[in-house]
Amino acid sequence: MVDSVAKIWMNGQMVDWEDAKVHVLTHTLHYGLGIFEGIRYYDTPDGPAIFRLTEHLKRLYDSCHICRIEVPYAWDTLWNAHLDVVRVNGLSDGYIRPVVYLKDGPMGLLVKEDHPVGVFIASWAWGAYLGEEGLKKGISAKISSFCRNHVNAMMSKAKVNGAYVNSILAKREAIQAGYDETILLDTEGYVSEGSGENLFVVSGGRIKTTPLTSVLAGITRDTVMTLAEELGHEIVETRFTRDELYIAEEAFFTGTAAEVTPIRMVDDRTIGEGKPGPITKAIQDVYFKVVKGQDPRHRDWLTVV
Ligand SMILES: *Cc1c(COP(=O)(O)O)cnc(C)c1O
Repeated sequence: MVDSVAKIWMNGQMVDWEDAKVHVLTHTLHYGLGIFEGIRYYDTPDGPAIFRLTEHLKRLYDSCHICRIEVPYAWDTLWNAHLDVVRVNGLSDGYIRPVVYLKDGPMGLLVKEDHPVGVFIASWAWGAYLGEEGLKKGISAKISSFCRNHVNAMMSKAKVNGAYVNSILAKREAIQAGYDETILLDTEGYVSEGSGENLFVVSGGRIKTTPLTSVLAGITRDTVMTLAEELGHEIVETRFTRDELYIAEEAFFTGTAAEVTPIRMVDDRTIGEGKPGPITKAIQDVYFKVVKGQDPRHRDWLTVV
């Protein structure tokens, strides 16, 4: 269960946690067309600070644009609402989940321009998504029998609610089989990403990540690419196969929820030495320093609430 907090921002108002409800005929609940984001805020020396809010909010609007959903609130309104949700609930660090959804209105698959649209922004405490132990020691992953959505079947640049059926099917399959997370291949058989994480490998001393085709353009992916370059590494965005992953020196997941999580095993093959490698550890270390405001660089990524 999610530990409740006091308030949720819903359609322009701060409402009590128990009162943040939708009708059963909420369109998004039936057909999955809705947009969400996942954002974290961390305890910094200046107090709680939201990490890369500008980029997350931009992606929220972009996702809506892709899906032709008109966000009924101006940028500044939603920006301030995110800050208010953090302030009012008084946590020093946590997760923020804005959702743009189609309210109850006409049913059926023809969504008209004037379909009523709602927005809520919830926040709760959320520790290491793949476990504290996973962050430290690395996790195991299984290549899924499910493919990542084809680029023309689902819009991969948009965080669309309905797209996560694909992720849930893959994740449950992997967990059921005894692994910690899943890795999906794209419809051509190349490595794509995790259920909600981008994927990096260190191969021949170079860092590789999947290009922005079948994968979501992760903000953590972008952060890690920047930080890795500052550490002096070259990053190559290129397709690679599952067997290249098997023989990689290092591998890791990135995501707002998963942060930087090392991968120690894929399909029962040890990755590198079966523990977080030196490049992964260095990137993870600088990532946590940056998000927690303990690094003088990239302070512009932090919005103190
Ligand atoms: C949200 C998400 C990610 C990670 O994106 P971040 O912006 O880093 O949180 C990666 N892949 C998928 C499929 C996602 O939904």
